[in-house]
Amino acid sequence: MSPVSPSSDLLNRSLAAVWHPCTQMKHHEQLPLVPVARAEGLWLYGPDGSRCLDAVSSWWVNLFGHGEPRINAALRDQLDTLAHVMLAGFTHEPAVALAERLSALTGGALGHAFYASDGASATEIALKMSHHYWRNQGQTEKTGFLCLEGSYHGETLGALSVTDVAIFRDAYAPLIRDVRTVPSPDARQAAPGETAADVARRAAAGLEAALREGAGRVAALIVEPLVQCATGFAMHDPEYLRLARALCDRYGVHLICDEIAVGFGRTGSFFAHEQAGIRPDFLCLSKGITGGYLPLSVVLTTDAVFAAFYDDRTARAFLHSHSYTGNALACRAALAVLDIFVQDDVIAANRRRAQSFTARLAPLAAHPRVRHFRHLGMIWAFDVADAPADFSRRMFSAALAREILLRPIGNTVYFMPPYCLDEESGALLATRVLQALDGVLE
Ligand SMILES: *Cc1c(COP(=O)(O)O)cnc(C)c1O
Repeated sequence: MSPVSPSSDLLNRSLAAVWHPCTQMKHHEQLPLVPVARAEGLWLYGPDGSRCLDAVSSWWVNLFGHGEPRINAALRDQLDTLAHVMLAGFTHEPAVALAERLSALTGGALGHAFYASDGASATEIALKMSHHYWRNQGQTEKTGFLCLEGSYHGETLGALSVTDVAIFRDAYAPLIRDVRTVPSPDARQAAPGETAADVARRAAAGLEAALREGAGRVAALIVEPLVQCATGFAMHDPEYLRLARALCDRYGVHLICDEIAVGFGRTGSFFAHEQAGIRPDFLCLSKGITGGYLPLSVVLTTDAVFAAFYDDRTARAFLHSHSYTGNALACRAALAVLDIFVQDDVIAANRRRAQSFTARLAPLAAHPRVRHFRHLGMIWAFDVADAPADFSRRMFSAALAREILLRPIGNTVYFMPPYCLDEESGALLATRVLQALDGVLE
């Protein structure tokens, strides 16, 4: 083993050898990488003892803080038993128990779990399964999908085709399928006197127009329930999901709920779609599922979908696979996560936690340059009016200089903290972000 490198050496080695995600590497000529040596609870620590509060849950994956002792213990135990085995033809307790418990959390409505390793592959699976379902029913012309304006469902080619974010999509446009976008129910679009539910009804009318025109060629509508996170935390009224569910039923189109970001309590209910009193035909889960420990995703679906593939003929089966499908360590981490939800009554505890943090954010919400301050469950976001060019990177740096990890999207600042944010760290977070904002806007 080589001796421990000083931190600047680590940064140089990283820039030389690691191609970092979602990054123009040249920007790192100005913007230093942040080395992390260890993490505990809300805090990331650098090799030199510097620290920052992870207010974005490490890209929305961490649920209960870093180094959660109960997840650590479950993983250590699993490591001594079974790390991984292929899931085709074989099975194991963690994969089965997790499928059963997730199904129970949907009231048994979505009783079949198909595993994969990341969010984008869950999207791929839901799209392929929906199309293949209709094909197995003899409806071979249902090859299209509908997605919302500003949608984000991942960045592999299939997922990118239902992702309406120009910066991610444009370079690859010739490679991806043409998919129809329908209006977003983004509540920020409310005209004076209009409610979020009015915006939802208007967006649903746009969806109906698209279905009336071409439902025969549409397999599914894919939505991020309640919050379109990646495109600036656009929030919408649950009424949209109720109307979309009814329209999908009426026009014979599947509803895919992508809860990769908003599942696992993030919006204040265990699943976001619960707030609309509906169930989707497909539910995509990932990110928080292992508490931020290991890559794992799952698509849950109905008996009706499962039955359409159940046949003597191999070609009617869903032959999709990934090497690490149903990884035992990842499933075990997810089981520990579900245990913690019960042991700590997390949904109720988060309600109190959210109330107190919202109160702490009052000065930010009232800031003269802040627009559309919004909050749902354990998500907070606001837009900054007349933001300077390069606002997101300047805000990132200003927050980091004050020991806060934020990753603004354009002129939208958001908080998605782990569910262990306490009074003291909430106060610190709110105060320092206000200072950082004033610093950037000065
Ligand atoms: C992050 C995300 C994805 C993609 O997940 P990856 O694990 O990054 O591939 C898909 N949909 C939504 C809503 C997401 O937030």
